[in-house]
Amino acid sequence: MSLNAESTAFRSALEVIRAVEPRVADAIGAELADQRESLKLIASENYASPATLLAMGNWFSDKYAEGTIGRRFYAGCQNVDTVEALAAEHAKELFGAAHAYVQPHSGIDANLVAFWAILADRVESPALKKAQVRQVNDLTEADWFALRRELGNQRMLGMSLDAGGHLTHGFRPNISGKMFDQRSYGTDPATGLVDYDKVAEAAREFKPLILVAGYSAYPRKVNFRIMREIADSVGATFMVDMAHFAGLVAGKVFTGDFDPVPHAHIVTTTTHKSLRGPRGGMVLCGPELADQVDRGCPMVLGGPLPHVMAAKAVALAEARRPDFADYAQRIVDNAHALAEGLLRRGAKLVTGGTDNHLVLIDVSGYGLTGRQAEQALLDSGIVTNRNAVPQDPNGAWYTSGIRIGTPALTTRGLGASEMDTTAELMHTVLSQTTPGANADGTPSKAKYVLDPALAETVSKQASDLLAGFPLYPSVDLG
Ligand code: PLP
Repeated sequence: MSLNAESTAFRSALEVIRAVEPRVADAIGAELADQRESLKLIASENYASPATLLAMGNWFSDKYAEGTIGRRFYAGCQNVDTVEALAAEHAKELFGAAHAYVQPHSGIDANLVAFWAILADRVESPALKKAQVRQVNDLTEADWFALRRELGNQRMLGMSLDAGGHLTHGFRPNISGKMFDQRSYGTDPATGLVDYDKVAEAAREFKPLILVAGYSAYPRKVNFRIMREIADSVGATFMVDMAHFAGLVAGKVFTGDFDPVPHAHIVTTTTHKSLRGPRGGMVLCGPELADQVDRGCPMVLGGPLPHVMAAKAVALAEARRPDFADYAQRIVDNAHALAEGLLRRGAKLVTGGTDNHLVLIDVSGYGLTGRQAEQALLDSGIVTNRNAVPQDPNGAWYTSGIRIGTPALTTRGLGASEMDTTAELMHTVLSQTTPGANADGTPSKAKYVLDPALAETVSKQASDLLAGFPLYPSVDLG
């Protein structure tokens, strides 16, 4: 695609928007400028391609399409059927899955669809069976009461939040933690790694209906073959949430025991993190769960977003190209180079390194909380997010960690030597920041002291580093 086509498309779109509400057009332009300027190390973010972005701004947004391909509750869905089928087909081919459901609006929604499918498949409930065969009107009040009782309090075993698990894997701030009777497995305090014997022991004791693997902040690979064996040994359904590392699976960096698709009963993901698609979610499964998964809308999801499904089809087609495998490998190589650069300068890393796309720095090694470190880095033009570390004494709000990831910078084209420079910039800021105090002189977990001149120098160095790797070089907004 030529430079002119992309620039023309975005310029024209902004011109049309500006004629109605110029402040929105300005904000869109400002967002691109900000993204171009910042050293984005947020592990869950990326930059979708112009084709993916453009696929979302069109008439599909106006269409209601509850139901599934060919079985809609609305008329006139033939074109939605086309894009939904394309997205599902690309997803199946890319991941080697028997079934793909591409409607979830986000990762959380994909997990809700999976929970529903597993409950409907596994919970012994005559009332539910009746409801499933659409004899809903035949259900008595007693049936409904029994159904609610039977679906509630089912057991889920997932990775603990401070070990890197996600809220939706059974934690209190999410409905999964209120609906399920949940236990979690952590990581070995000495190594920071998943201890499969401990997971097996927890599974034997707790006998979960669902064993969940997958993470938001664990910097290592998980052996899904072993996890499946554990699930099988206690009769649990094995679910993997690959939201963070789907791009590494798509790019065949995670294969064999580390590819969740052949091992899990059901796999959920987001499409916007390392997979580099539009914001959204997806569920992959075998034929046994397909029917329940396809009930996602209207069971737990609002109407599908056909414009986003169109963009998913585009992004998944991109991920099937050979250069995506190269991209995925570079993500991991860059994370490794970043970790090495930090370690060499004395940073303390959870698990001592990484073998995926993310690195978790324990900033207590710099005498800081995650909150102080995050803000000091931000002042210096480096965008990260704070994150708990295992057994974090500062809890989930202040934290002791900074999570960084390489999918976005790798998309811009930065490589190993720029990762080393990034490590140098981060280490400079973190080692020169000191904890601040409250007005009454007590230590603060949020306040910090950083020389503004140093922050400015680092910001300048970060922007010089990025200047060699323009973001969306084919897009000139004029
Ligand atoms: N699952 C995991 C493992 C995640 O890390 C996240 C998001 O950070 C989600 C699910 C939720 O994704 P979304 O924000 O799209 O709902």
